[in-house]
Amino acid sequence: MQEDHPSCTVATAPVRRILHIDMDAFYAAVEQRDDPALRGLPVAVGGGGPRGVVTTASYEARAFGVRSAMPGAVARRLCPGLVFVRPRFDAYRAVSRQIRAIFLAWTPLVEPLSLDEAYLDVTDAARGGPPAMAIARRIKDEIRAATGLSASAGVSFNKFLAKIASGLAKPDGLSVIRPERAIAFLAALPVERFHGVGPATAARLRAHGILRGADLQARAEAELVALLGRSGGYFWRMAQAQDDRPVEPERRRRSLSVEETFAVDRRGREALAAEVEALAETLAERLRRAEFRGRTLTLKIKLDDFRILTRRTTLPHPVADAAEIRTIATALLDRPGPPSRPVRLLGLGVSIGDAEADARQLALAL
Ligand SMILES: [Mg+2]
Repeated sequence: MQEDHPSCTVATAPVRRILHIDMDAFYAAVEQRDDPALRGLPVAVGGGGPRGVVTTASYEARAFGVRSAMPGAVARRLCPGLVFVRPRFDAYRAVSRQIRAIFLAWTPLVEPLSLDEAYLDVTDAARGGPPAMAIARRIKDEIRAATGLSASAGVSFNKFLAKIASGLAKPDGLSVIRPERAIAFLAALPVERFHGVGPATAARLRAHGILRGADLQARAEAELVALLGRSGGYFWRMAQAQDDRPVEPERRRRSLSVEETFAVDRRGREALAAEVEALAETLAERLRRAEFRGRTLTLKIKLDDFRILTRRTTLPHPVADAAEIRTIATALLDRPGPPSRPVRLLGLGVSIGDAEADARQLALAL
């Protein structure tokens, strides 16, 4: 047996094996599974009424351009035969429990992002076991056998790339991004495809000639920070495939928030109220998906001089739907009055207080 020469031993962090598993058109797929009459039809889960929003569209509906978060009326115009179905969260939660049990049989390091999506760190399972890609394939098969539904899987060495990989070949996809391919892959990726780059950020980047990952890679970190603030540093690191965020199991969420940086500063009560309304819709949807509830609603206002105003209120009950969030957030905007300076960013978040968090921990422990 040959001995390793000490001078050949290089101490490096082991390459991790991270999976991102994402159910395909989840709510719509569950509805089509449970009601054969819906199979093959364009289906939208969500409200079809005047204020309704599409939560999930089946692939048949996506072919018409119907998308998540689209107003129901717009979706109906794009696809006149669209069938609206009310969401059945109990059914989705039941499937979610099934897939989580499958994940946990492979690794304790499971970080759910929503009912239908999770990161898994399978570094240990892949050591001396099947390669990560084979594990991903087996998990997909086990999900299909247990639920009759399809999932897409992304395999890579960090969370950022695993998540992008799972979206590459949907539905029923399996994609791998290997370390030696990562930089070239990211170089070719349009900035809109970077997770976390919204329309406003994308527009800002495009205005500065940053269209693809290669353009991010070519800039200095400080330049991106100057352009985008803290998230500039984040995107710079992601473009270099530097993402050492661990997969955090059993994350106990304390807050959930959404925010929008405007390509052009907003000014005046009417313009701000319209943005608050849009944020309320997005936040309500995110709360639903994450199954998160809290009693404290916070409105964040960043002014053009970068000062941040924070206004919050705590309700006697958990914040419920978009309409309630909109009403309360608008009240926060109006009291003590909309800012007189132009606004570069608005944020809206729901959080739980310490007492609430402790009560929940206690309930879990009992
Ligand atoms: Mg999904």
